Amino acid sequence: MIYCANCGAKNQANATFCANCGAKLVKPAQSSQPTQQVQPVKPAKTGKRRADLKQVRKWKKQILIAAAVLLVLLAGYGYGKAYYAKDKQIVQPLQEYYKANPDQGKQRRC
Ligand SMILES: [Zn+2]
Repeated sequence: MIYCANCGAKNQANATFCANCGAKLVKPAQSSQPTQQVQPVKPAKTGKRRADLKQVRKWKKQILIAAAVLLVLLAGYGYGKAYYAKDKQIVQPLQEYYKANPDQGKQRRC
């Protein structure tokens, strides 16, 4: 009897692959040494580090994208606010001016 290192399922001693998950089974001679089961973690760690680096790169990309979006939003908001303020500051007094002096407004337009 051999236990799958991946899922822990019982498999036949001569089986090379787990019948449950399909993972390659560790031979009984190796499985008797528990220290060897710990060792394969080391190359997995470097793989994890690579994955972390990839994740960090992804994060950096996402942060850059988020920053760009934020900048665009802020710029758009600032522009809209300035435009709105301009509109209010210039158009409203003009309208009030035309309302107060309709003749002058007409004269100016002609
Ligand atoms: Zn398995």
